[in-house]
Amino acid sequence: MIGLFGGTFDPIHFGHLRVGLDVQQALGLEELRFLPLNVAVHREQPAAGGALRREMVRVAIAGQPGFRLDDRELSRSGHSYTVDTLASLREELGREMPLCLLVGGDAFNSFLDWHRPRDILSMAHLVVMQRPGAQTHHRDPALRDEVQARRCGHMAELELAPAGRIWFQDVTQLEISSTRIRRMLAAGRSPRFLLPDAVLDLARREDCYAGRQCADSADSDGRPPAASAAAPGHTNTGDTDA
Ligand code: ATP
Repeated sequence: MIGLFGGTFDPIHFGHLRVGLDVQQALGLEELRFLPLNVAVHREQPAAGGALRREMVRVAIAGQPGFRLDDRELSRSGHSYTVDTLASLREELGREMPLCLLVGGDAFNSFLDWHRPRDILSMAHLVVMQRPGAQTHHRDPALRDEVQARRCGHMAELELAPAGRIWFQDVTQLEISSTRIRRMLAAGRSPRFLLPDAVLDLARREDCYAGRQCADSADSDGRPPAASAAAPGHTNTGDTDA
């Protein structure tokens, strides 16, 4: 069984990585593919370019067994519709392989507004990961009906069909979002420990989130930044959303 984790990844963070690992381990996925989108459909376009987001994903997952970068959406022009991505994956993997599309609870709540959602379900299962702050009660009656009709009682049912079921997976609750990280960088605050250092280094080097530079390491005299004289515009107050 293969997992597919699509996202903007602008930038990729520990929220993505930890829940991806939770799902991989819980479901015994032989592979979990991270698919950075190219042109977003229902949201503002990413701040970082596709090549940089691809590189951030690559360094974030490097060395993690079973984690794989799949950049087919970045190679395709136009909107990154999941239904097209799945069709292309089915051409590669055949019709029988069970495919699990991972979606956060926030994304799942608007699933029926996605492009051709029922065609998506004809090509993949949905694995819904609860996310802090996302509604767990599905207000949309049509979505409730889909859940009622397709929900698995046990995860083993995902292996019995290539597509069409919905599974709710408990995952580590991490209140981390790319938006929060971009805002922190733009405000000159450190998002360290919310994402891999290698990803943060890339974001800083490319200055893609218009951030003022912010020291994370101790000063040469060993004092942490909070104890040292703050650089102009640099505050070391708590890291909360801008
Ligand atoms: P942004 O803040 O820019 O909207 P994001 O943090 O939501 O970004 P995306 O790349 O848009 O990240 O998300 C890709 C997928 O990962 C979505 O299905 C989303 O629900 C899920 N996701 C993101 N962060 C988390 C998290 N902390 N816990 C669980 N799921 C998450």
